[in-house]
Amino acid sequence: MKVSPDIFEDTETAYQTKTDGNLYKAKTMFQLMGNNGLVSLGSSLATLALSLHLPVSSLFRWTVYNHFCGGETFAECKKTIQVLGKSNVGVLLNYGVELKETEEDFDKTIAKNLEALEFAGKNKSVKALCVKLTGFGRLALFEKIQQGDKLTPEEKKEFTAFRKRFEKLCDVASKNEVALYVDAEESWIQNPLDELVEEMMAKHNKKNCIVFNTFQMYRWDRLDYLEEQMKKAKDGNYILGAKLVRGAYMEKERERAKEMGYPSPIHKNKKAVDKDFDEAVNLCLDNLESLFVCIASQSEESNLLAIQQIDKKKIERTSERIIFSQLYGMGDNITFNLAKLGLTATKYLPYGPVKDVIPYLIRRAQENTSVSGQTSREFQLIKKEIKRRKAD
Ligand SMILES: Cc1cc2nc3c(=O)[nH]c(=O)nc-3n(C[C@H](O)[C@H](O)[C@H](O)COP(=O)(O)OP(=O)(O)OC[C@H]3O[C@@H](n4cnc5c(N)ncnc54)[C@H](O)[C@@H]3O)c2cc1C
Repeated sequence: MKVSPDIFEDTETAYQTKTDGNLYKAKTMFQLMGNNGLVSLGSSLATLALSLHLPVSSLFRWTVYNHFCGGETFAECKKTIQVLGKSNVGVLLNYGVELKETEEDFDKTIAKNLEALEFAGKNKSVKALCVKLTGFGRLALFEKIQQGDKLTPEEKKEFTAFRKRFEKLCDVASKNEVALYVDAEESWIQNPLDELVEEMMAKHNKKNCIVFNTFQMYRWDRLDYLEEQMKKAKDGNYILGAKLVRGAYMEKERERAKEMGYPSPIHKNKKAVDKDFDEAVNLCLDNLESLFVCIASQSEESNLLAIQQIDKKKIERTSERIIFSQLYGMGDNITFNLAKLGLTATKYLPYGPVKDVIPYLIRRAQENTSVSGQTSREFQLIKKEIKRRKAD
């Protein structure tokens, strides 16, 4: 059946798992997040409260945490996962603790992720584990490698330890048959990380697609990179795992490029990013025999275009090779309506101790003020559903 262009207006489907109480709370939260000044004040206060070890966890938990995260433990996550599963929505699990700096922290983060792989292996609704490689090794070390600087013997040891952590993670993911999605980060550390992920794909993606790399389409060089990776996978006889995103570090990237006097790696405008993103989706859909693609976007236009292309190319909507994803707590109108069409729809679901996930939550709040229209769109949709329920 032809997909309706107003598919994402169906709020009854979008909020089927939300109680009236959930909706009223979410409405207030998005209303507050629409205020730039308030978000910036709230972010500073939260950072201060954290550094002073003030007991703000319950406040966070009751507000933003419950809206954007799965829970502090696997038992709590399980409930969230079950609720989503009932609507055929899967999960991309993410241990939301970020930016650690010591070897001890990295070992702890790996241990947590290994536990997550065991959990995911037993839970069919968990479609993948998402990881950031800066959770297992130092950002400054990766930057030094990318710059081509000579490493000290200690740094060489450090890189070997990082590599071993990631290799172990891939081995366990493979053993448990759980996909591992590697997030893309800042362009100035990405090259050595891409190389390593590529190596792991060649090793683990012979029969199944276990390891996925992320392609940030706001970079003007990524469409070529995607094509190059597709060719390498074909020549090397392994399956390419491609998670497509627009990219989360635009301001930071542009500022650094300006400060250091090199050309910005980011497209000049959003239109060019949108064009590359949609082209990348198309390219992947045309090559499904040799890759798996995760379309990770909250753009209604890009998601609609992807469905239309899938139908036009006569690809089965249920193909396990195409996975859609939006962040938990956002874009429900997209996720739940995709699931209703039989597509593989998922939520990116962070979990972990409230105090450790706060930096992730601050980013979500800030992103909601900077991504033009996103907050007001969420707000309008929730308002529409409240009105619909009242009229029922
Ligand atoms: C499941 C999931 C996984 C993700 N994983 C990653 C990841 O690994 N790495 C990562 O970097 N991000 C990741 N993101 C975030 C993603 O990159 C985007 O920041 C976010 O999803 C917003 O883009 P969009 O496609 O959803 O929607 P849209 O609202 O259509 O696009 C907003 C995005 O467009 C780009 N943009 C906006 N204005 C301009 C401009 N003037 N010039 C150039 N570009 C512009 C920016 O990338 C901005 O974030 C992920 C997102 C999801 C949903």
